[in-house]
Amino acid sequence: MKVIKVAASVMRGNEKIALENQAVFRNNNVFVVNIMGSPGAGKTTLLLKTIEALKDNVRIGVIEGDIATSHDAELIHAAGVPVVQINTEGACHLDARMIQLALTHFNLAEIDLLFIENVGNLVCPAGFNLGESARVVVSSVPEGDDKPKKYPGMFRVVDAVLLNKIDLSGVFGFNINTFREDVRQTRELEIFEVSCKTMDGLSGWIDWLMGKRSAVGY
Ligand code: MG
Ligand code: ZN
Repeated sequence: MKVIKVAASVMRGNEKIALENQAVFRNNNVFVVNIMGSPGAGKTTLLLKTIEALKDNVRIGVIEGDIATSHDAELIHAAGVPVVQINTEGACHLDARMIQLALTHFNLAEIDLLFIENVGNLVCPAGFNLGESARVVVSSVPEGDDKPKKYPGMFRVVDAVLLNKIDLSGVFGFNINTFREDVRQTRELEIFEVSCKTMDGLSGWIDWLMGKRSAVGY
């Protein structure tokens, strides 16, 4: 009897293509950020605010991952940056091959910073390297303060945490100390408390992002 371990072979295949993507990004001096988080955490809104803050100085591109619809991609397009939509047709994460295909639709020579908005999900996106330069998770106050404890796999692979909708922390009885402590139990990570509505904390996130980019060298 032969047992085929699909998950392992899929992962190995993914890792190989992720390395190819990484080489393409490096050769074109494109800094790539993989944005993950639950549905409704505010990934697209964060992206829109970040684009607004940076687009006069940095040439930005976006890959939008969604199970269905091009709603978010249309919002990004309206912000005036090149965007490619990937509809995963049911798949709950992006993989490196999807990114490789999407890249053929960009002129990478004209992009300095590429954002990838992953499918809304705190589980499997964490397991798929896309060849990116940095990973962040957007968590939000209405989701509750227990997410770092319940989804440690996600918090283990990211470089920073954005805790969004911080303006609602009183309404939802969100315990920021619990959240911070549980993140710290997983890993020492930068946590940005932000509100895309009031714009609180966004400059800290943007400074961090630009710092990361200069550390990589492009
Ligand atoms: Mg979105
Ligand atoms: Zn998945």
